[in-house]
Amino acid sequence: MIEISNITKKIKHSEIRKMYNKALEYDNVISFTLGEPDFTASKNVVEAGCEAIKIGQTKYSENAGVFPLRTAISEYLKKTIDVYYNPVDEIVATPGAMGALYLCLKAILNPGDEVIVNMPCWTNYIQQIVMCEGKPVAVRTKKEDGFNLDIDKIAEVVTTKTKAIIINSPCNPTGGIVSVEDLEQLAELAMEKDLLVISDEVYKHILFDDQNYTSISSFDGMKQRTVIIDSLSKTYAMTGWRIGYAASTKVIINSITKLQENVSACVTMPSQYAAIEALSGPQEHLEYMVSQYKERRDYMLKRIEEIPNISCQKPKGTFYAFISIKDTGLTSEEFAMNLLDKNQVVVVPGTAFGQFGEGYIRMSYATSMKNIKEGLNRIEDFVMNECCV
Ligand code: PLP
Repeated sequence: MIEISNITKKIKHSEIRKMYNKALEYDNVISFTLGEPDFTASKNVVEAGCEAIKIGQTKYSENAGVFPLRTAISEYLKKTIDVYYNPVDEIVATPGAMGALYLCLKAILNPGDEVIVNMPCWTNYIQQIVMCEGKPVAVRTKKEDGFNLDIDKIAEVVTTKTKAIIINSPCNPTGGIVSVEDLEQLAELAMEKDLLVISDEVYKHILFDDQNYTSISSFDGMKQRTVIIDSLSKTYAMTGWRIGYAASTKVIINSITKLQENVSACVTMPSQYAAIEALSGPQEHLEYMVSQYKERRDYMLKRIEEIPNISCQKPKGTFYAFISIKDTGLTSEEFAMNLLDKNQVVVVPGTAFGQFGEGYIRMSYATSMKNIKEGLNRIEDFVMNECCV
C-alpha cells in the first residue's frame, strides 16, 4: 500500500461541501451553502471567451498570463485601488484566487513559519498554510466589535517566526470590512515587525451602503509588503472559469510565476481573454448583481430580526449573513443538521470557519429571492417549533 503523505493526511475536507453533500440525501431542499454567484458571466464576457476558442487562442500562454491581460489587470488596479502595478513583472494571472494564494504561501513560507489569520475565516487559508508547512495563528474577531480586526491581539501574537498576516475585506463568512483606521494600524505594525500582508480582495466590489474600498497596498510604504490576491470569480460571476491573479513586488511575482510554471503552467487561454473583456468592458452587470445582493441582504436582515433567538450583524459586503444562533440553545452543528432534517434547509455551521464560529450559521444569499423567502419561512418555523430554550 502506498502511504499518503503526512501533510495530506492533515488536510480536512471543507465542512461546506459536507453539508452540501448531506443535503443531496433530502428532497425539496433549499440551499444556502455555496459561496458562488447565482448569476452567470455577462454576454460580452462569454462571447470573448468563445471567440478566443474559435480563433485558436487555445495553447499555452506565458506562465504569468498574456501581456494584454496583465495590462488590463494593471489598469483595473490603478482605477479601483489607485495603486500602479507594472504588468511586466508585478502581476501574475492564476487559476482563481485559490491558485494565487497557494503559490504565494508556497513562495514565502519555510517550515514552521507563522501566518496570522483573523477568525472566523474562509478555512482554505488554514489548509493552504498547513499544505505549505506553515503554522496558522488564529486571532478572533467578534460580533460585538462588528467583526473588526483586533489589532492589539494581532500585535500580541507576532513572534520572530511570523511571516505574514492574511486579511479578507469584506470577509467571508462575517460580511465585515476592515476599517481604514484598522488598515492604518495594521500597516504600521507590518512595517515595524517586517511582516507581509496578504490581502484577499475577492469581495471588494460587493460592498453596500455607498462604502468605498481601500486596499492596504495604497498606504505609503505598503505596496512592497503587500500581496493582493484577487479573482474574477465573485466580481464577474466567473467561478468556473478559474481565473484570478496576484499583484505584488517583482521578487514575489517572479517566485509565484516560477512555481506556477511547474504546477499548471498558466491559466486557460479562453479564460484569459474573457477576463480582459470583464475587467475592461462595461460594468453594468456587476452593478446589477450588487444591487440584487443588497436587496436580498436587506430582506434577510428584516426577516431575521423578526425571528426570536437568532440575530445578525449587518453584513457590509459579500453575499453572506453570519447569524448568531447561540440563544436557541443548540450548537452550530446541531442547528444546521436539525434544520436540514426537519425543514430541509441547508446552511453552513459556523464551525466550518474555525473554532470561533461556534454559535453561528452562515447563509449565502447568492440565491434567488424566492428561495430566500421560502428558506426563511422554514427557518422561522424551525426556530419557533424545534428549538426550545
Ligand atoms: N477567498 C475567499 C475569501 C473566498 O471566499 C473564496 C471562495 O469562496 C476564494 C478566495 C476563492 O476564489 P476563487 O474561486 O477565485 O479561487
